[in-house]
Amino acid sequence: MIEKTQAIVLRIAPVSNTSRIVAWLTPDHGKIATVIKGAQRPKSPFLGQVDLFYTCELLFYAHERRHLHIARECCALRRRDSLRADWRAAAAASYFADLLARVTPYEAPQPALFDLLDRALDHLAAEGVVEAFVYWFELKLLAALGLQPRLDVCLECGQALLPAQRHASFALARGGLLCARCAGGPDGAAAQVSSDVLAMLAGWQASAHPRAALRTRCTVAQLSELERLLGQFLRHHLETDGTSRAIALDLLRRKVGAACAGWQLRVAAQVGRSQIAD
Ligand SMILES: [Zn+2]
Repeated sequence: MIEKTQAIVLRIAPVSNTSRIVAWLTPDHGKIATVIKGAQRPKSPFLGQVDLFYTCELLFYAHERRHLHIARECCALRRRDSLRADWRAAAAASYFADLLARVTPYEAPQPALFDLLDRALDHLAAEGVVEAFVYWFELKLLAALGLQPRLDVCLECGQALLPAQRHASFALARGGLLCARCAGGPDGAAAQVSSDVLAMLAGWQASAHPRAALRTRCTVAQLSELERLLGQFLRHHLETDGTSRAIALDLLRRKVGAACAGWQLRVAAQVGRSQIAD
């Protein structure tokens, strides 16, 4: 059966000198993988149409019993060329693509995740990246997966928590806050989070646009707390190992000259060119 869909390139891996396996995120089929035979041959119609972070129109022969399909035609709709020059934005894009590749199942419709990644890549290509945008993206990803942290009530007793009260334990395994009274229980040993960081998270959760995160002036200590809290949350609920996240955040924080930028960009791109099989 031939299928036609929009698709974002998540990963590319060689299977021979000229052929490639590409992992894609699509709205209607979720994550899929296709073989592109002869992708690197000089006269291949796929040349220039497929690369990391591209959103494409893809035509493929769908195998009914296998996850690996055969690409027939592909046309790049949004190339996001600026990501080839902005290595910080490319580092974030590599992390986002790697994260989606890990948490998205094969062959299950994922229109919300597709839309989130498509808009995030557009934003990175147009505006570049600041660290807060990475955390905003992680919150939106968790929401799209139905794993949004609860920050407005105590998960144990159900008491509403006003912003000034949101300084109790953050119970990672349960996915939200415990009030001061309930924090003494078995979940009370969970992460302690400052009220200002919780206020940021609540504000970003409520905003559909990254503007809220981009306008927030975060201190180094607050960014460090966000990295730790959301990193623990993602590892617990999505079972990610955090490698691509650590690489991306490390690159975002570095101050390097132009001579180092090419090397950094290759490191970032390597995340996206890793194994397809996960
Ligand atoms: Zn409580």
